[in-house]
Amino acid sequence: MLRASSGTLCALGLKKAAGPVLPTTAYLMLGTKCRRNCLFCAQRRDAPPSVMLSRVDFPPVEWEAVLEGLRRSSLERICFQLVCQEGVLRETEKGLALLRQHGVALPVCVSYLFQREEHVRRLLALGAERVSLPLDAAPSVFAGVKGEEPFAPYRFVLQMARRYPGRIGTHLIFGLGENEEEFLAVYQKMVDSGVTVGLFAFTPLKNTPLADRDPPPLGRYRVVQALTYLMEKGRLSLRDMVFAGGRVKGLKKDRSEILALLEDGAAFRTRGCPGCNRPYFNESPRGPLYNYPRELTEEEAKEALAVLERELEFRCTRFF
Ligand code: SF4
Repeated sequence: MLRASSGTLCALGLKKAAGPVLPTTAYLMLGTKCRRNCLFCAQRRDAPPSVMLSRVDFPPVEWEAVLEGLRRSSLERICFQLVCQEGVLRETEKGLALLRQHGVALPVCVSYLFQREEHVRRLLALGAERVSLPLDAAPSVFAGVKGEEPFAPYRFVLQMARRYPGRIGTHLIFGLGENEEEFLAVYQKMVDSGVTVGLFAFTPLKNTPLADRDPPPLGRYRVVQALTYLMEKGRLSLRDMVFAGGRVKGLKKDRSEILALLEDGAAFRTRGCPGCNRPYFNESPRGPLYNYPRELTEEEAKEALAVLERELEFRCTRFF
């Protein structure tokens, strides 16, 4: 079954826009009931039937309407989010073929934690521009949250990134119980290996075992956004950070140098595949916006930098 996020339906002209920002990627979901049981996910095996992924609705839609809408839209990318279910790979292949047949030339990524290279190779050969292998959780919390050991999935992502440079991504969720030092070390490893990371803040959802857990404090998410952005730009590495009890205490760098690199606010925008803005996957349109799905206003960028100044020490040393 094909489903599309409500925002995607608006961007395709199939529904009246509700939120102030529309997606720049068409988010399409294939599959109905997941065999996996990730604690944070509304599609998990033990959850009641739900149309939600993260905090966004994905109602069913006909392929014909989507293809027609895609031809008219100004979207930048198509993202297939797959639910772990028998036959979903065949459905994805059919979807890629339909896009080709109907002359939709947008770059496509497929997001699913495959375990076999042959599946990744097949999708790339059939026209997917990228494959995203969502790890979601840092290794120390992986088994508790996703119900399997982290070693094989982590090894597989890094192996695929070596095999298919520039075509492999992942998703990492901050706030699942890992500490900042581990999260940033994992992120650095992904950046160094050429894996594109879609960064998410943990979002508690109804009918999941983590429904009562808080999302990460916004200030600490801003720190993670800023430091991972600078890692991606090659302007900062783990060696420049000072940790105390697993938390980033500060940076060994000058305040002015770091703030100048962040002043346009780009660090606080949604990150992942090019053209992916995932509006409201992590937050209500009323805010606070963990990931900005659009450019920040000058005021918003200043506010984000002010938060960083409160949360971080600069010219920080290990001796405290
Ligand atoms: S980063 Fe965005 S476009 Fe890429 S796989 Fe993730 S959700 Fe899809």
